[in-house]
Amino acid sequence: MKILVTGGAGFIGSHYVRTMLAGGYAGYEDAHVTVLDKLTYAGNRENIPLGHPRLELIEGDVCDRALLHDLLPGHDAVVHFAAESHVDRSLASADAFIRTNVLGTQVLLEACVNTRIPRVVHVSTDEVYGSIDEGSWTEDRSLLPNSPYAASKAASDLIARAFYRSHGLDLSITRCSNNYGPHQHPEKLIPLFITNLLEGEQVPVYGDGLNEREWIHVDDHSRAIQLVLTRGRAGEIYNVGGGNERTNLAVTRQLLELVGADPSRIHHVPDRKGHDLRYSLDETKIREELGYAPVVDFEEGLAQTVAWYHDNVHWWKASKHRMEGPGDE
Ligand code: NAD
Repeated sequence: MKILVTGGAGFIGSHYVRTMLAGGYAGYEDAHVTVLDKLTYAGNRENIPLGHPRLELIEGDVCDRALLHDLLPGHDAVVHFAAESHVDRSLASADAFIRTNVLGTQVLLEACVNTRIPRVVHVSTDEVYGSIDEGSWTEDRSLLPNSPYAASKAASDLIARAFYRSHGLDLSITRCSNNYGPHQHPEKLIPLFITNLLEGEQVPVYGDGLNEREWIHVDDHSRAIQLVLTRGRAGEIYNVGGGNERTNLAVTRQLLELVGADPSRIHHVPDRKGHDLRYSLDETKIREELGYAPVVDFEEGLAQTVAWYHDNVHWWKASKHRMEGPGDE
């Protein structure tokens, strides 16, 4: 078994790769993993066990057609994580988002068709649905993305669907809620706030902080992706939610408590442009069809995440000080 993982040096992709190489996915204990990653500011070699006998890292771009045609033959499956993933960066400039997320997905999937890859999972996000005041989205809800990031992911989902319909590519799409856990770049809300608190700084909360997100531990998301890879139906979309709906302010207060800081560290900053108020996924389909359920308790997972950043200062210090501004998904 040989799996190609795009974006496998990023936050979620690397968790998936580490878990697979550690024998965490039944039936894949001997799988060989090729990580294709451009190693942008978000990719980090330290995230994956370089030197592992079943791991190969190829530094390259998903937009590189020739590279893909060389690399893909012989792989049994492709799991496509590679993306520009930070909403704030997409507001500053959407160029890289359209290039990697839209063009990159098209180039990759076309190469998968040409090289007859038997199975593909395209990893997407709940943000493609937009914002929902009440209730939860099912997979058939219309796509109403509000940020350039979400629009680029929505476009990539439509390209993925078209490659299934037109070319018969055996492909499924996952749409997951906000992830948290170790190895997440410190530009994102939870690691930004943890690392600010560890450095004795304030935490910048957008607006009134009442935007609600559904949080999922990266290990639960990765397991869902593996379930979809092995048992998901071609052409289908699977929502993956964590079931932990919290306002940004509630998550911030939990982090303050875990670090032992007081509420005076909260600093409200002007709201993000077009900030979605609430995301909520209906995940009945993946639960009933594939038997999926998240297992990591949010409070416990958050405490472990705080402990990881506390113990791995070397991992986040350098990248953190190359960026600035409030964080969010
Ligand atoms: P990340 O930003 O941490 O990692 C992205 C990885 O892709 C990095 O290693 C980067 O170097 C690589 N990459 C970027 N451009 C590339 C290119 N052109 N060619 C090859 N590699 C490239 O992102 P993440 O949080 O791990 O997200 C992974 C995927 O999951 C994304 O597709 C994202 O849309 C999706 N997703 C993320 C979340 C979340 O909460 N983080 C939630 C749902 C879905």
